[in-house]
Amino acid sequence: MMINSEFQADADKLEKFVSLYCRSHHKDREKESFDFLYQRVPVRIEGGSELCAECSKLLKYAIIMRVLCPLDPKPRCRKCPQNCFRSEHWKSLEEVMKYSGPRSIFLK
Ligand SMILES: [Zn+2]
Repeated sequence: MMINSEFQADADKLEKFVSLYCRSHHKDREKESFDFLYQRVPVRIEGGSELCAECSKLLKYAIIMRVLCPLDPKPRCRKCPQNCFRSEHWKSLEEVMKYSGPRSIFLK
């Protein structure tokens, strides 16, 4: 399987940000190791960080949105005409990014 290294690097970054956030904000929640495979690109995270169900869902969404972004180079999401982040997920992700990665790929 050919892993797309650019997407993979971003997916790994996102995984770090979300896990940092989850570790400090969701201490009391039950967690599971994050496992993810997106066949179409492909991008893979195996044996990832421990995440609660909510963060795990958010991370999957974020990775898929990153991978599916049709614009190259990828613009800042805030200025993007696609509006894929105009959703509840985007709000949660914004929280995560503010906390863990102010200069991440979504909020440069
Ligand atoms: Zn969490």
